[in-house]
Amino acid sequence: MLLQNVEQYVEKLIPKRTELVEEMEAYAKEYVVPIMELIGIETLLQILRLHQPKHILEIGTAIGYSAIRMAEALPNAQIVTVERNETRYEKAQTFIERANKKEQITTLFGDALELIDEIARKGPYDAVFIDAAKGQYQRFFEHYQPLLNKNGIIISDNILFKGHVATDLAEIETRRKRSLIKKIDGYNNWLMNHPDFYTTILPIGDGIAISIKRGD
Ligand code: SAH
Ligand code: MG
Repeated sequence: MLLQNVEQYVEKLIPKRTELVEEMEAYAKEYVVPIMELIGIETLLQILRLHQPKHILEIGTAIGYSAIRMAEALPNAQIVTVERNETRYEKAQTFIERANKKEQITTLFGDALELIDEIARKGPYDAVFIDAAKGQYQRFFEHYQPLLNKNGIIISDNILFKGHVATDLAEIETRRKRSLIKKIDGYNNWLMNHPDFYTTILPIGDGIAISIKRGD
């Protein structure tokens, strides 16, 4: 989302990760798993270090990359993460075990819109990270915002959809993509005007929205 040369410059400055984390990055590249981009994850982790959540809910585990990175950055936090794709869920279990983070990360298999009761029993949460099916963000937000503690935050990833949200719809070739763009744009507008949250959009990685629950 940044100018490409600036992005490359910043990426190069980011220190090496652990061997396992870099193995996951390579795995994601090889098998085209949409884990967070390098600058995006660094930004997410820094926001979490500032906020210091004790209980985090992640929607969209994929192979456990962001969950493991959050667990490393916040050794005192407990993370609940949900994934509906079985292959990825299993891969995440393996990586989490290898990272020695089983005590800190609870992985749930299933659709985040169907596991609401189970996820609620494990809550409440200080931070919710939405990083799953882009067409469903508003539903995830509406279902999970009641589980937030006071001063809780919700972080939504991929809300700029590679910049497509800023493209003229007439230039988008497939109907499916146009519909997805409209949904994300709808979410962004709805979110920015939500009366109970302060939201800001960071044009970093694939676009990250930070929403902070207003005090009552
Ligand atoms: N957070 C991960 C990347 C997640 S990619 C990281 O940065 O490392 C998005 C994942 O969300 C995909 O693996 C997809 O299978 C999963 N997903 C999409 N919709 C979902 C839903 N409704 N419930 C659970 N998982 C979902
Ligand atoms: Mg993402």
